[in-house]
Amino acid sequence: MSKTLLVWLRKDLRLKDNPALSEACRQASTVLPVYLWTPDEEKPWAPGGASRWWLHKSLDRLRESLRDKGSRLIIRQGSESRSLLRQLLQESRADGVYWNRLYHPAAVERDKGLEQALKDEGKEVRSFKAGLLFEPWEVETAQGHPYKVFTPFSKQLLERLPPEEPPLAPPGNLKPPAQWPDSSPLEELGLEPRFDWAGGLERRWTPGEEGAAAQLARFRGEALDRYHQLRNRPDMTAVSRLSPHLHHGEISARQVWHAVLEAQQADDSRSLSKGAFGFLRQILWREFAHHLLFHFPHTDRKPLRPQYEHFPWVEDAKALRAWQRGRTGYPIVDAGMRELWGSGWMHNRVRMIVASFLIKDLLIHWLEGARWFWDTLVDADLANNTLGWQWTAGCGADAAPYFRIFNPVSQGQRHDPQGDYVSRWVPELSRLPRKWIHCPWEAPEEALKEAGVVLGETYPRPMVDHQEARRRALDALQEMKNG
Ligand code: FAD
Repeated sequence: MSKTLLVWLRKDLRLKDNPALSEACRQASTVLPVYLWTPDEEKPWAPGGASRWWLHKSLDRLRESLRDKGSRLIIRQGSESRSLLRQLLQESRADGVYWNRLYHPAAVERDKGLEQALKDEGKEVRSFKAGLLFEPWEVETAQGHPYKVFTPFSKQLLERLPPEEPPLAPPGNLKPPAQWPDSSPLEELGLEPRFDWAGGLERRWTPGEEGAAAQLARFRGEALDRYHQLRNRPDMTAVSRLSPHLHHGEISARQVWHAVLEAQQADDSRSLSKGAFGFLRQILWREFAHHLLFHFPHTDRKPLRPQYEHFPWVEDAKALRAWQRGRTGYPIVDAGMRELWGSGWMHNRVRMIVASFLIKDLLIHWLEGARWFWDTLVDADLANNTLGWQWTAGCGADAAPYFRIFNPVSQGQRHDPQGDYVSRWVPELSRLPRKWIHCPWEAPEEALKEAGVVLGETYPRPMVDHQEARRRALDALQEMKNG
């Protein structure tokens, strides 16, 4: 067996449960792991600032793990994967290339063309399922259509789960080639911030495969069984925070699924605790999001429900900026936006609240929000982000009806009852009694004074009146319906 294969790593930055890597190691005597940085191919969704920060760290870890296996990570950058791969195939005299499949529109198109072109040149090309539990074409309604409603989608998946195959072990040592092709230094990709804004991210996260495994172990031990009760509490450590690890493929959905069954000593999802079941259901939302984007590839820019193309959105750069900076005057919204800016992540409940505020209280297009999240989230994921924004805007699959408008005060009071989350991210309100922390404008002068709050100076007054904004949003909906 004197075959040489490239393994093109993309959103599968791990050695464990990596089908393309494992199969290449079985089939070839020499395996060359490759990463290509071609952001132009991903436009308009080239990785944003926070994702780039993560990617740099993750590639660095992967490089180390490969070194421990006697191998290397060959890094190249350019405008096109096709020419970079061709060049590498030529230089290394490799017989072919293996990769794990991706599902977002730009990658699907690119990979299809690339596969055919390389096969036409006599190269062996194989792709594998690694990012999802089910391929988008493996799940359909009885009528043979893609699902647009989550509950029947998840029901079908649950009947077919757990995954038949257990996660794959990491490969043994990778035999190096006689001569390594050149590699760009990771630092040359320019993924790290030019200004030092990433301190909060550094403190919060440990990118890489080991970091992902540790995060899962921590969640499994500390919070899994209470997940169904506390998953809506941004003031607590009650959710897994696995999203950036899953997005970059430092851990697979299959590994997560098996780890949860193992922790519960369960053979299937029917014998799980409520917490574990609730958590795995979220993994199915991720599947749903990827299936939707695959089947409806225009939805990263356009609403799934076409009538929403005529929604009377408002352009208001000043209001958008206040939202982005966490200066709306609504404490739970501002806490969320500042958590995002400071840590590259935001709790799911708060994502829904801030998204509803932008779309319904400010009537700003959901794409503006999606773009801001794209640049600031370490877990920015085209499928999940599109689903989240379209769901909130009421224009996507299985969406919340447009007329359900989150009240930022009652949402704050319900999900952050002690105001701890607001205190952490909006410290200028932290001395305000709990009763008013979600509505400082209702606090008596005395209480504000004692807490050192001067509305309009130390903390903004609400930028809109929520009840008025709600009426305006419902009028806009009616206007759209009237055509
Ligand atoms: P957990 O609650 O522990 O869930 C485990 C995993 O399930 C997550 O890591 C994620 O992969 C998946 N998951 C959970 N909820 C959802 C969901 N609603 N949709 C799809 N998958 C889900 N998630 C992203 O990964 N990237 C995004 O860019 C993104 N943008 C969003 C934008 C908006 C407006 C909204 C409302 C939600 C968005 N989400 C996004 C979904 C969700 O908020 C995050 O996946 C979740 O908060 C991540 O935290 P966690 O890992 O602790 O989740």
